[in-house]
Amino acid sequence: MSFSVESFKSQFPLFSQSENRELVYLDNAATTQKPACVIDAIADFYRHSNANTHRSSHRLARRATDMVEQVRELAAAFLGATCAKEVVFTRGATEGLNLLAYSLCSQLQPGDQVLLTTAEHHANLVPWQMMAKRYQLQLCYVPDERGVPQIDRLYEVLTPRTRIVSLTAGSNALGFRTDLHAVRAALAEKNIHWIVDGAQLAAHEHIDVQSIGCDFLVCSAHKFYGPTGVGLLYGRESRLREIPPWQGGGEMISDVDLYSCHYAELPHKFEAGTSSLAAIAGLGACLQFLDQQDRGGMARHEQQLLHFLHDRLSQIPEIDLLSAANNNLGIVAFTHPRCAAIDLMQWLDGRDIAVRVGHHCAQPLVRASGHSATLRASLAAYNTRADAEKFVAAVAEFIVHLGDEVLVQGGMTADS
Ligand code: PMP
Repeated sequence: MSFSVESFKSQFPLFSQSENRELVYLDNAATTQKPACVIDAIADFYRHSNANTHRSSHRLARRATDMVEQVRELAAAFLGATCAKEVVFTRGATEGLNLLAYSLCSQLQPGDQVLLTTAEHHANLVPWQMMAKRYQLQLCYVPDERGVPQIDRLYEVLTPRTRIVSLTAGSNALGFRTDLHAVRAALAEKNIHWIVDGAQLAAHEHIDVQSIGCDFLVCSAHKFYGPTGVGLLYGRESRLREIPPWQGGGEMISDVDLYSCHYAELPHKFEAGTSSLAAIAGLGACLQFLDQQDRGGMARHEQQLLHFLHDRLSQIPEIDLLSAANNNLGIVAFTHPRCAAIDLMQWLDGRDIAVRVGHHCAQPLVRASGHSATLRASLAAYNTRADAEKFVAAVAEFIVHLGDEVLVQGGMTADS
């Protein structure tokens, strides 16, 4: 197996539509494009297999149930879970984190501590803030430098009251990765629930929850070439058994009377109501697709593009590159002292180059870096060298056009 960007890209129908032939899509940290097999699996589900799940029901219902459980097996292998029971289907990383915050915090005592980092996406901040208020918990943060967590100092803020540590595997705003081995070492032998937000990791590297050593990990399929509307929550079986469900409804119970109920077995006790069945079918196709790719080759290709972008952008006068060329999940982020990022984004959009500006739903990190907004270009394996060259040339051209004019107006609104 070797990686060819041309043949990889040819599997993504969006890029062969006439209106998108020239598109340079560099907004992959927000969401990736979908290969034909994923789109077809969703359509096939509705065309041939659509029914709600229930094993002891009619033929189509049994087929839908079998499909969901087969995808769960694929997802368990994708994450390195020991069995399919450890995989819960969610709507995405946000729902996985809300589920964990709701469920874990309900078992804590006032004054217990939840440890986070300044680099978290709002999805890994706001649910904890909500639960901290409800249960009088204390939120603590790993020491940081200009917002970048100093994981080697994590032990300084661990106390006997630390009950939960929830941190991202990589920043969606600046791209830097978290040293998960160091986190594992700091938390070893402590009875702390350790959650990894793997939303940005899954597209770029093979995830193995055993070697990470975490108790929980969340991710969203749409960020690794799968559909929107479905995500994965991995939970170590013993941990999932200990914690209560977060939503009640059909599918998550084994028996109900007027005043009480018994919950269903794992993982169903965490899956109330009808799941996004067609999206799960699409996720199954996505996992098979990824399994057939040269993941190492994809990662090397992305890293070459990342280095190229950092190298060329750092030669453009005054650009303040906030992302690092190394140990980075494919994200380039910068500002320019004489222009508002939104003006540059619009200029690029006019040249069919899709990037994102704003605080990227990581406002504390972007603020701590000294900015209210950055321009972010984020890579996927279908990006080509020509994409990277076109992007750099357009940025350079914009800055030349700026002349001595000062365009900064502050006030960014876009995010993600
Ligand atoms: N965590 C991180 C690091 C992310 O980048 C994102 C999406 N930008 C999320 C969580 C939330 O993902 P979703 O919106 O798919 O639930």
